[in-house]
Amino acid sequence: MTATPREGAGGQKKRGVARVTADLCTGCGICVKSCPTSCITIIESELNFNGIAHIESQRCTACNICAVDCPWLAIEMFNPDGSRRDPSEYAKQAKRLRGYQ
Ligand code: SF4
Ligand code: SF4
Repeated sequence: MTATPREGAGGQKKRGVARVTADLCTGCGICVKSCPTSCITIIESELNFNGIAHIESQRCTACNICAVDCPWLAIEMFNPDGSRRDPSEYAKQAKRLRGYQ
């Protein structure tokens, strides 16, 4: 049986998921390096020569790190109910990760 987007591979409830806005992604690869679960890869795209980021949603733990690190704001976070997660919810996490506090 295939897990739904709200469930992990083992059927456990997901905390949310990250999604790439392809039009904004430059294929810089920063998110690939920062993702702790290595679930982001760069795939070929007609949008630019570098390609664009692709997130394997089943392995995404919704940790927000890629969304924090993307310099082009090309990654958005979504809650388990499908609603968009307000970046202000993880603004404190962003500051901590960047060493501001
Ligand atoms: S960090 Fe942002 S712009 Fe760079 S590859 Fe990832 S999603 Fe695309
Ligand atoms: S939210 Fe976390 S686990 Fe999911 S793709 Fe981004 S960095 Fe990886």
